[in-house]
Amino acid sequence: MTHSRARQSLAAFLGSIAAIGLVSSASLAAAPAIPAPNQALLREVTRTLSSDAYEGRGPGSAVEQKTLDTIIARFKAAGLKPGNNGRWLQDVPTVTLAAHNFTPLTISGGSGAPLSFAHGTDFVAGSYRVVPHTEIKDSDLVFVGYGINAPELGWNDYAGLDMKGKTAVILVNDPDYAQESEDGLFKGRRMTYYGRWTYKFEEAARQGATAAIIVHDTFPAAYGWNVVESSWSGEQHFVATPNDGADQTVANGWVQKGVAEQIFKAAGQDFAALVKAAGQKGFKPVPLGLKASVGFDSSIARATSHNVIGIQPGKVAPNEYVLYTGHWDHLGHCKPDAKGDGICNGAVDNATGVAVLAALADMNRRAGPARRSQVFLAVTLEESGLLGSEYYARNPVFPLNKTVGGVNMDALAPVGPARDVEVTGGDKSELTAILHRVEKQLGLYESPEDHSERGHYYRSDHFSLAKRGVPMFAVGRGTDLVKGGKAAGQAASEDYTEHRYHQPSDEYSASWDFSGIAQETGLYYRLGRALSDGKAWPNWHAGDEFRAIRDKSLSAGK
Ligand SMILES: [Zn+2]
Repeated sequence: MTHSRARQSLAAFLGSIAAIGLVSSASLAAAPAIPAPNQALLREVTRTLSSDAYEGRGPGSAVEQKTLDTIIARFKAAGLKPGNNGRWLQDVPTVTLAAHNFTPLTISGGSGAPLSFAHGTDFVAGSYRVVPHTEIKDSDLVFVGYGINAPELGWNDYAGLDMKGKTAVILVNDPDYAQESEDGLFKGRRMTYYGRWTYKFEEAARQGATAAIIVHDTFPAAYGWNVVESSWSGEQHFVATPNDGADQTVANGWVQKGVAEQIFKAAGQDFAALVKAAGQKGFKPVPLGLKASVGFDSSIARATSHNVIGIQPGKVAPNEYVLYTGHWDHLGHCKPDAKGDGICNGAVDNATGVAVLAALADMNRRAGPARRSQVFLAVTLEESGLLGSEYYARNPVFPLNKTVGGVNMDALAPVGPARDVEVTGGDKSELTAILHRVEKQLGLYESPEDHSERGHYYRSDHFSLAKRGVPMFAVGRGTDLVKGGKAAGQAASEDYTEHRYHQPSDEYSASWDFSGIAQETGLYYRLGRALSDGKAWPNWHAGDEFRAIRDKSLSAGK
């Protein structure tokens, strides 16, 4: 018993050492030595940033400056230079809107009396335009299926339509959502960008629509109406733009499925039949012959937060860039738990990610500059909707078509090393080949993504860059732990999701094991250096949703 346990733990120990890169394989003899991640540094930065003194790192709060100073000090100690034209900080101006004072949503022109729907229970709405009052008056309703315009797939739900003055009625998710497999034009059950609700409002604006309404349905949305209602009540945060959102639709909103059924019935249409038609290639938009009206006021507040940017200039191609991104913000003061703790410390989310940024910078200091420049970007306002990274991507310090790619780090589990790697978003780009090479070097296998229908690729900071064409790694340690296997890894992950995620209990503990975070840091180091020591420009695969954007951006840079 004792003997076999000792052997087991020795094997685990050796496995974890190999996995975190302390033992280099023979093939590395010719390559530059890979420095070991500094576990003490990882622990210290995580502990500091998540301590009560930092009050949960709410952007714009009294502790923002202290948080920024701490990150800058770590970047300086790692030998980075200020990355924003001699400054460490990039200002991130934001606008916060809160809609209130709603008139009912009324639908006229159909059979029978006009329909009237109540705000909250029947519909929610808001504006992306920075205006104190929004009024939609008698706007023609058009059913545009899933609201997708994907030239690379030969799919356009707006084909032949001029949306000026009109309101688009749009289904949630994409046509493949109900499939078991990940096959099909829209990758089966795997979420695509076209299935995200944010995409649908963006596309409606590009089409020149006056307004856009998404029809909620619990199964394809994967959340109930209560989630829509609460997330569309109160404050909505946006990156400030020079035109104050004038290129957006006048109003966006959601209706309950039952409301949509009533509207389609008034139009003499069968909702279920049109949903079916919308899933077929060649679907044509259907004018409903009805007019929609709604009005509301918006309160407007402006603020400024900050991204921190550090750079290690490249030694051969300093005007080509590789990004490392992670958000520094968390929820600040939040609803007190049963013990009266009202600080959401954000230790895992995302003090760990900032610690990894600092540790990666430190490893690169020891290794010396790469061929290309390496940029370390600690972004703000991730928790408010990826605003810091969105602002950077709209206002890049380093041109996006000179940015080769990057690695994002968000919420690393404080448990031991794993045997596997989990990839978010699937095989979207030529980054996959680099990942497979690094997995092999580290002796790790790749696990399929858990819940690919949830679209996690579209929900962290790398996405702000990906949607503008920059290929970004969104990978991390899997749950098959060296000590305890999948059972231990999944139990830890469930404990975090249920008992800590976005709660005051996401707190640092001295008992945390940083060897797994160190393993992941080693993985990110290798992925980053593969890009920064290389000459290649890995692109999205043909047919991927971001390929055309990247091709256009790269050809403009030549
Ligand atoms: Zn979070």
